[in-house]
Amino acid sequence: MDKAVARCLKETFGYDDFRPHQEQVVDAILRRRDVLAVMPTGAGKSICYQLPALLMGGITLVISPLISLMQDQVKALLQSGVRAAWLNSTLTPRQQHLALERAAQGAYQIIYVAPERLELPAFQRFASQAPISLVTVDEAHCISHWGHDFRPSYLGIADFLRTLPRRPVVAAFTATATEAVREDIVRTLDLRDPLTLVAGFDRPNLFFEVQEPRDRNQAVLEVLTRFPDRSGIIYCLTRKKVEELCEFLCAHGHAATRYHAGLEAEERQKNQDDFLYDRKRIMVATNAFGMGIDKSNVGFVIHCGMPSNPESYYQEAGRAGRDGSPAQCILLYQRGDIQTNRFLLEHGREQAALSPEEGRELLRLDLMRLRQMTGYCTAPGCLRQKLLGYFGEQAPDRCGNCSNCLSGQAPEDVTTQARQVLLCVAALTREGHGMGVHAVIRILRREEDSSIDWLRPSRLDCYGALAHFPRQKLQRVIYALLDEGYLRQTEGDRPVLALTKRAPSLAAGSGRLAIKAQSSRQERQALAARGSEDSPLFAALREVRARLARSAGVPAFMVFSDATLREMCRLLPRDEREFLLVKGVGAQKAARYGKAFLQCIRGWEREHPAEK
Ligand code: ADP
Ligand code: ZN
Repeated sequence: MDKAVARCLKETFGYDDFRPHQEQVVDAILRRRDVLAVMPTGAGKSICYQLPALLMGGITLVISPLISLMQDQVKALLQSGVRAAWLNSTLTPRQQHLALERAAQGAYQIIYVAPERLELPAFQRFASQAPISLVTVDEAHCISHWGHDFRPSYLGIADFLRTLPRRPVVAAFTATATEAVREDIVRTLDLRDPLTLVAGFDRPNLFFEVQEPRDRNQAVLEVLTRFPDRSGIIYCLTRKKVEELCEFLCAHGHAATRYHAGLEAEERQKNQDDFLYDRKRIMVATNAFGMGIDKSNVGFVIHCGMPSNPESYYQEAGRAGRDGSPAQCILLYQRGDIQTNRFLLEHGREQAALSPEEGRELLRLDLMRLRQMTGYCTAPGCLRQKLLGYFGEQAPDRCGNCSNCLSGQAPEDVTTQARQVLLCVAALTREGHGMGVHAVIRILRREEDSSIDWLRPSRLDCYGALAHFPRQKLQRVIYALLDEGYLRQTEGDRPVLALTKRAPSLAAGSGRLAIKAQSSRQERQALAARGSEDSPLFAALREVRARLARSAGVPAFMVFSDATLREMCRLLPRDEREFLLVKGVGAQKAARYGKAFLQCIRGWEREHPAEK
């Protein structure tokens, strides 16, 4: 590693080594090469541009979509002794004027701006005269229609870059990008011969789990018992559900707060801070929360409802365990989530300047992503492999760290039953009496039902063909056939099952269908028990951290991450020099906080001489 780079990495950020890919990106930027880096949430994108920003001189602009993100990043940078600032709509005109004036005098090394800012004349005047050496585009997938989070304001970035007298290095970062989105980013931003880097997406410290509970509120309570003192996020699909669940948790004695776009800005800010500063342990939120929340000590992310695509899921779930500590991502799925998402997709998307054909094409892509997400929730097989596979990565068949891999029960082969279902649907279609899921179940199980009497069922071979097969399970077989694309449901008030082109391949004998075993309560408890045990010293260090954070007015994780505290427990540093060896401890923070932590460690060692 280059000496200056190594020194900056250690002194400012407290790290001895880069994580995978960081060095390559830093290197490219320092050689003035454009970059497109696709790295998963938590991989450490920030350092990739913050470090070059400090070494290149001049000003680095970071374009970022969310105000909360900027404010947190700037706070964290100031903690590490970096001169940083943000510019966004929360400043008064006078404050903005002052900030730009100071920026023009070279007061800041890094300035965070919202994309809308770039179009304002005052900002453009500043930019045309300032020595801007690097422009970083964070969440760069927002520039593409084809991504899952298009933002029209991002399209202005390219125009802005063209107005600059000297073209800076441009570095684009995102956690999710398919090939199409990647091409869009390069073209729209006009990146010049960029270093394109797609990092591995695996986050080995994350444990993935899917449950299909009947009562999700109860399931949340049960899951929370695994984490008596870690903070976590619970995502819900709608604002209404956020309200309801937050109230439910508070009534059960949990310190929960809430966040969604329907709240007043003031309350949103306050609730977010309560969570960030560990005053409230649990955040119940819609997906409006979190992009840009880089609280690194999130121990779990629960999804009380399935998101509409794997990108969003991985991004949201990935907010757990950013500091590298073990963390859990649990999805509580119910069949109704598919409909809810369909509705949101059909009515919710920002359709700026799209032709009807484009709109239809995008909806088709959205529905495809929804099917893949459903497969994650319902099909057997390693959850990690499914996610990584979605991002185009090969992964072993078993990761050993997800609920499907650890399940004691093998998936159940239901090919025989599935064939009966297909035969039944085929027969009904032939007779001209298409039926929905429940009617098909009743026919196959020969259940009493006046609404199928008129069919004169004796004419149907399939009538009662699965009379002894449990209802619940039969329903799951039909859902699996739908999810795997052997059956489809017609649109309309009275959806009817129909065969797809794929159906004959299963019906005729090739191919198999399996459903996964439902996890038992004992099994879930066994999984839960895997949560890591933290040492008493860790708890003591956490208290020191909380105290220091309070008096510095920053969230605890900005003092040191949980991972850094665990390193302290492992290394038991005795003096300032040893303290500096701890991963995550930089010069500035060692000087500011070292004494308090060393004292705590020394006290603990005196009380526990045997454990050295
Ligand atoms: P991203 O933006 O990719 O989601 P961040 O930049 O927020 O990720 O980094 C995630 C966490 O990883 C932060 O807590 C950060 O301090 C930590 N981190 C980053 N680089 C390193 C490194 N080289 N060694 C150890 N921890 C790191
Ligand atoms: Zn697995």
